Amino acid sequence: MNTVSTYREILNAVSESFSGSETPFLDACLLLAHSLGLSRESLLARLPEQAPPLPAGFYEAVRRRSEGESIAYILGKKEFFGREFIVDSRVLVPRPDTEILVVAALECGDLAERDHPGRLAVHDACTGSGAVAVSIAAERPGWTVSASDISEAALEVARANATKLLGKPLLLRVSNLLGAVQGTFGIITANPPYVPSHETDALLRQGWKEPRLALDGGIDGLSLIPELISQAYRLLEPGGFLLVETDSLQVPAVCAMFEKAGFVAIFVKRDLAGRDRVTGGRKPRA
Ligand code: GLN
Repeated sequence: MNTVSTYREILNAVSESFSGSETPFLDACLLLAHSLGLSRESLLARLPEQAPPLPAGFYEAVRRRSEGESIAYILGKKEFFGREFIVDSRVLVPRPDTEILVVAALECGDLAERDHPGRLAVHDACTGSGAVAVSIAAERPGWTVSASDISEAALEVARANATKLLGKPLLLRVSNLLGAVQGTFGIITANPPYVPSHETDALLRQGWKEPRLALDGGIDGLSLIPELISQAYRLLEPGGFLLVETDSLQVPAVCAMFEKAGFVAIFVKRDLAGRDRVTGGRKPRA
């Protein structure tokens, strides 16, 4: 790679070192566009041109990506529900599949609000970067949104995202699941850690830099869910909704846990790939 290479040749060469990625050329484009301060579109328009000497930061970014670090961490940002969130290794990178949790919360919230116009309270547990909580608050400015996480470091990222994207702080609390959360809510959402421990071990060995705390859900991935569900039941007002993201294979077990805790009208929402992803249920009215 030198000054006689075109952008395309550089990107092709770099892509070869991203063998662990499903989208190596796209990854290379994103890193190069970022380090040149260009949009991806304007870089693509220049592919046949000779590239100038590239900044050292680009090769550093290439090294990090080839060691398995996510593009989102290297760029320090990730798009979620149409907004750009700040991310780093203090938090899980928001996944496109989690957007369905936001969609479900908006739908259920609109329904719940009919009972209590203008005073819907929403709480997002295990909030991490705050992607779900901030998206809900941005989409429905009239709702009162709060969020919690066991990690104070994650909440610093959530706080930065609330300030950046809402222009105001969210009410954030350090809490193991919902243990330290007070109040009553019309909607509770959660994307808790649900990856089985042995799979988490494998992902971290592959070079994932996400916090184990955000991924590891114990031996079968479901260790935290029953406690989360029973805590949520106590904090929901009658008729309130709980919405929990898990892996699709875990959904039947999660539905059974909702039922055991007393939830009714249990339903499942599918993600972008058509897999069951979010389990929802309602606390009975009386
Ligand atoms: N969906 C994430 C993954 O598959 C896991 C998210 C989580 O544990 N909450 O990597």
